[in-house]
Amino acid sequence: MRRRLRRNHNKDMSPNELQHAWQDLPHDVGQLDTLEEQTREWLAQEPRRLRFPAGLDARFDSAGKPARLRRLQRALGAALAIFVLLGAVDLFLLPDILETAWLVRYAILTPLVLVCLLWMPRAHWERLRESLAAGLILAMAGTQVLFGMLSDAAPVQQFDLVLILALLIGNLVAQLRYRIASGFTIGMLLLYFAQETAQYEGRLVEQCLAAAGMLVACLISLTVRRNLELERRIAFANGMLGAITQRRLANANENLSAQASSDPLTGLANRRELDERLMRLHRNAIRQQQPLSLLFIDVDYFKAFNDTYGHQGGDDCLRWLGGILRDGLRRPMDMVARYGGEEFAVLLPDTPPDAARKLAEQLRNAVYVARLPHESSPHQRVTISIGVAGSVPNPGALSSTLVQAADQAVYLAKEEGRNCVVMVS
Ligand code: GH3
Ligand code: MG
Ligand code: MG
Repeated sequence: MRRRLRRNHNKDMSPNELQHAWQDLPHDVGQLDTLEEQTREWLAQEPRRLRFPAGLDARFDSAGKPARLRRLQRALGAALAIFVLLGAVDLFLLPDILETAWLVRYAILTPLVLVCLLWMPRAHWERLRESLAAGLILAMAGTQVLFGMLSDAAPVQQFDLVLILALLIGNLVAQLRYRIASGFTIGMLLLYFAQETAQYEGRLVEQCLAAAGMLVACLISLTVRRNLELERRIAFANGMLGAITQRRLANANENLSAQASSDPLTGLANRRELDERLMRLHRNAIRQQQPLSLLFIDVDYFKAFNDTYGHQGGDDCLRWLGGILRDGLRRPMDMVARYGGEEFAVLLPDTPPDAARKLAEQLRNAVYVARLPHESSPHQRVTISIGVAGSVPNPGALSSTLVQAADQAVYLAKEEGRNCVVMVS
């Protein structure tokens, strides 16, 4: 993924920024499908449009925000640097209006552009920011043209170069948005015609040739600007496809691991998950010398329940029981799991055996008073037997010892007539 990013991304958009745009992809499969379809459709288009379908375009737009700001700062900075340096040229080209030129150059426009440069990162409205930057570049170029027209000494054609430079800075360095770029280019053309009229004074053929040159420069710079944006969009779309695949894989992994750790009938954790958690908590209990308790719960006369109410009825009963057990636990670290068949287990970290036995008694009672009918049971209702085991484990103790103890405790509870709690220590 990272390699692909490096290969594909346009250097104007840093891999980090792109990654950020792809990271918050939706988890929802339907939304991912739509996004992928939009991306593929756009990529298959011939010729490609400078716009993605709505949702994708918003992502592209927000991903490119920092890069757009950087380009704008670079462009305005470069334009200002040239504008400031041209002040030295004024000494030779504009001796007759030097004072006015420097006043406008250094006392008005330079501070204005500097303020705008400082304000740009804080600006909320991107379009306003771009328009302002475009306007300031135009203003600097226009000032240069105006100086040429005001001065009697200036060889005006020198300023063609300034206009072309400004055009390239606006269209290729800043890479303004399409509409702003179009307005900017028209502005440049108007400036050009203004200074041309002064320069050629009726020599029509020469004037037309020069104007054609300027027009071609405008078209070329607009086309290159368009191609640069297109390239950026293609890189973004390809990266988006890769990211969608990644997100799908991540989703599938999440689903798989959820499936691997939960019991489909009751939605509780399964035995695998409980075994893993038990090992972890057991190690913790040894390290911190805290008690750890385990309840084993077995439904009484469940075979008879199945025989009476059918397998479906038995399943419903297990689901119901799972709910009661889950609701009976209060601490977030307590965990109930379906251990297998009609057996459940409850893991109680940081709980001494006496407290565990109390909780077991509450759970048994909760099932008893719920009175789920079971006509083949001597109690005429569903009941459970619970085995309790718990201790502060000694260093070197095995978690399987706790399991065996709880298992033995349930066995004893069955022996004692069921619907009861037995603890072994
Ligand atoms: P005891 O009081 O000694 O626990 O008797 P019991 O009938 O509950 O115990 P036994 O182990 O003889 O029977 C357990 C029954 O649980 C057998 C099996 O059909 C049923 N059982 C196990 N898993 C499921 C299940 O997922 N759904 C259903 N409906 N029944 C199940
Ligand atoms: Mg059993
Ligand atoms: Mg049973």
